[in-house]
Amino acid sequence: MTSALFTLAQPVVPILGQDNVYPVRRVFCVGRNYAGHAREMGSDPNREPPFYFSKSADSLVPGGGTIPYAPGTSNLHHEIELVVALGKTVFQATPEQAAGAVYGHAVGLDMTRRDLQNAAKDIGRPWDLGKSFEFSAPITALVPSATPMGAGAISLEVNGQTRQKGDLNEMIWSVPEVIAHLSQFYHLGLGDLIYTGTPEGVSAVKPGDTLVGRIDGLPELAVTIGPAA
Ligand code: MN
Repeated sequence: MTSALFTLAQPVVPILGQDNVYPVRRVFCVGRNYAGHAREMGSDPNREPPFYFSKSADSLVPGGGTIPYAPGTSNLHHEIELVVALGKTVFQATPEQAAGAVYGHAVGLDMTRRDLQNAAKDIGRPWDLGKSFEFSAPITALVPSATPMGAGAISLEVNGQTRQKGDLNEMIWSVPEVIAHLSQFYHLGLGDLIYTGTPEGVSAVKPGDTLVGRIDGLPELAVTIGPAA
């Protein structure tokens, strides 16, 4: 008989208005899903197939709050995003089938070490150091909804000033299309979150900054950048 050498905390996201929590297995992220952000990153916003990277589930910061300024960067960026949680198994699905697999939505921040991401891009290396790190994925409570969100204002303020502003209807790939495409490559299901990309206006933060992310119909995400740690 074998037993675990030690136990690890299961990453979870709260569910709005419930005592239950949503356990997280994987965190997928879509790159460049808004034309304005694709342009500001120097890319062609034409409808090329979506691409993905992932964050470790223990990057999540449920409920936001204070996060340390990340180590190893001098250009820590915010990316405000709609997050979708899956509630059903879905594999090689059509967008119609994928739409039925949504459990709910949340507001998330895809915090990014932009200097490290850009350095990796330049020499064709993976993005992990730039994207998947401790405290890099603040997220609100999930709001259960059987219907994928497809419209509504999305914005991010830093110290009371609007930096990012857009509408979910500007997503190049809709929520059902993203799930359907990603499901060609993974057996998606319970415990899977998808960060669906960010509108234009990404910029650097510094210790002491207060970020407030909003998406119509979802809770506010408030994050303060603490000292480097
Ligand atoms: Mn992002």
